[in-house]
Amino acid sequence: MSLLVIGTVAFDAIETPFGKTDKIVGGSATFASLGASYFYDKIKIVAVVGDDFPQHEIEDLQKHNVNTEGLQIKQGEKSFFWSGRYHNDMNSRDTLVTELNVLEAFDPIIPDSYQDCEYLMLGNLSPQVQQTVIARLKNRPKLIVMDTMNFWMDIALDELLKTIQLVDVLTINDAEARQLSGEFSLVKAARKILTMGPKYLIIKKGEHGALLFHEDKIFSAPALPLAEVFDPTGAGDTFAGGFIGYMAKVGTVNFNNMKNAIIFGSALASFCVEKFGSERLRNLSEEEIANRIQEFVGLAKFEL
Ligand code: AMP
Repeated sequence: MSLLVIGTVAFDAIETPFGKTDKIVGGSATFASLGASYFYDKIKIVAVVGDDFPQHEIEDLQKHNVNTEGLQIKQGEKSFFWSGRYHNDMNSRDTLVTELNVLEAFDPIIPDSYQDCEYLMLGNLSPQVQQTVIARLKNRPKLIVMDTMNFWMDIALDELLKTIQLVDVLTINDAEARQLSGEFSLVKAARKILTMGPKYLIIKKGEHGALLFHEDKIFSAPALPLAEVFDPTGAGDTFAGGFIGYMAKVGTVNFNNMKNAIIFGSALASFCVEKFGSERLRNLSEEEIANRIQEFVGLAKFEL
């Protein structure tokens, strides 16, 4: 039994009102697997990098119980590169550069030792590649969670719609939910998206928390009000990784466990934004996480 994470392992350059980074390690699979690693220890990654990607970064993933047998290293090629600039509200950002590089011809090869996967996190990546991964697994995983973004809605909507049909949980942000459904109201957007295939929909609302929709049920999770948000990059992927890592740990897929998983994912995401890139996710202690979960519990608890 294991959790398979696919997505990008990448270089990012980030500008926020607080500062600017040169190329640092990012990528949807990096954040998602680091997020999941705090709840689950059998994580396997499928991704691709160029020969410019530092070996010590791969070793760091391994230290977080991430099996990197499925991480392809393409000699003579460059890793995926993304650059973004955040607005003052830190909720919206402009993509400055997306260089696909090794991703252009990415063939996601699933090692035989990965075929035992019961949980599949389709991190943000081309929907065609996400679909190929599902097709290459001999048994359908117990839970498939898919993340995506506006970039793929703009350039590969048909493929995206086909992939969405195959998954159990879709996680997108509020603007993406509006774009995908053509509805402004998030409730109407969710109703529409739930007819497109997924049984569960999570709409991430940045500093305003997240909503989980399933059949006619809605759960609203808060986000922790933080005095300083340093860099939101990867928060969505960390959230998704924490979410599925927690689901893999509890082992039973139902609405109630998903409510808790959203809180655990949100807690991890709240750490992610405290420093640039994935730095804050590298060395969290159990105690820090447990305390943060309690802060979430306190935030939304009231008695009538
Ligand atoms: P998030 O802030 O959760 O949306 O994720 C940001 C991460 O997604 C960055 O580390 C980027 O490397 C990665 N990323 C940005 N654009 C793409 C894309 N088009 N496909 C896959 N990953 C991307």
